[in-house]
Amino acid sequence: MTPTDRGELPEIRFLDLAAQRERLGGRIEDAIARVLSHGQFIMGPEVAQLEGELARYSGVTDAVACSSGTDALVLALMAWDLGPGDAVFVPSFTFASTAEAVALLGAAPVFVDIDAVSFNMDPGSLSAAVEHARGAGLVPRAVIPVDLFGLPARYADIRAVAETVGMRVLADAAQSYGATEGGRRVGALADATCISFFPSKPFGAYGDGGAVLTDDPGLAERLRSVRVHGQGRDKYENIRVGLNARLDTIQAAVLLEKLTILDEELAARDRVASTYRTRLDHLVDNPTVPPDRTSAWAQYTIRSSGRDDLARVLAGKEVPTAVYYRNPLHLSPAYASFPRAPQGLPVTEEVAGQVLSLPMHPYLTDEAVDRIVDALEAAAADTAAS
Ligand SMILES: *Cc1c(COP(=O)(O)O)cnc(C)c1O
Repeated sequence: MTPTDRGELPEIRFLDLAAQRERLGGRIEDAIARVLSHGQFIMGPEVAQLEGELARYSGVTDAVACSSGTDALVLALMAWDLGPGDAVFVPSFTFASTAEAVALLGAAPVFVDIDAVSFNMDPGSLSAAVEHARGAGLVPRAVIPVDLFGLPARYADIRAVAETVGMRVLADAAQSYGATEGGRRVGALADATCISFFPSKPFGAYGDGGAVLTDDPGLAERLRSVRVHGQGRDKYENIRVGLNARLDTIQAAVLLEKLTILDEELAARDRVASTYRTRLDHLVDNPTVPPDRTSAWAQYTIRSSGRDDLARVLAGKEVPTAVYYRNPLHLSPAYASFPRAPQGLPVTEEVAGQVLSLPMHPYLTDEAVDRIVDALEAAAADTAAS
């Protein structure tokens, strides 16, 4: 560490995979060593074991592990046979994958606005977008709500809209594994749910990975087929066009160890969020969790009209922050030509200029949170004075 004006104080990390690794001790090495010794690197026993554990944890019949969260979305849309002429409703205030998977299959991502409090899909904007897409000659086939920053979307309301239209709900739960709505875990809130094991997600591996969760065994069978080149009874009988989208055995072995501490980590994230909320209540717009939901707290994201100044001052005080997402997808070159909700996306456009994510991970100490809050107080005073 280079000497700084923080003196003896430890560095504040935006996320801290090293602390988690230290906590798990030799268990990860042992799990990887077991894979090295049995040698089944592709679809080894740990993959099936992980799928069983994920399904049990989420309270669904099936989990199909795959190569990434993005591929989980592609697999689900392929297994439902979506393509040209189909409309799939997505938020714009999300990571690119949500819309990318749709566009990749030749279907039309239709961008829907969010609500200003949760940053998640606004069911009213969804209804309007469905009518708009129909008017444009598209067939509404699916909606992909995103559980942004770890908070489950308004599934009850979104399911109600989807049911009247006869379209499917595909949850993008890349950021929310372990969170709940109405006492049910993510995975059981939609027709199918995609999760990501990208290392920085709340439930991350040591490389790429993902899974699709569902209560529909027929869908699970199609997902397993698409995952391996559209195989039928075996790899050399191809009954549909598919992909190579398997999860590596070594990543499954790592995830099985991490799953044993996931609940404790979620509780620790929740404690950090409560402390932030209590200490920052008077200072900034804090995220809120409705009483029927819990969050996996992938991010703790505040809103401030002076966001960029605030981030700069915090960086000077060695408090790392991040902006998710500065560029809404519907304004990005790759996606600007796709349809949007008829009233536009004014909330998305406003929020994108104001959000700021603070350090958030299960190993953030009270002392670190204190320093972050102090820095924010000083920064707010600075930026107000300037
Ligand atoms: C991370 C993420 C994805 C993609 O996951 P990968 O495993 O990186 O492919 C999709 N959607 C959202 C909302 C994400 O945050």
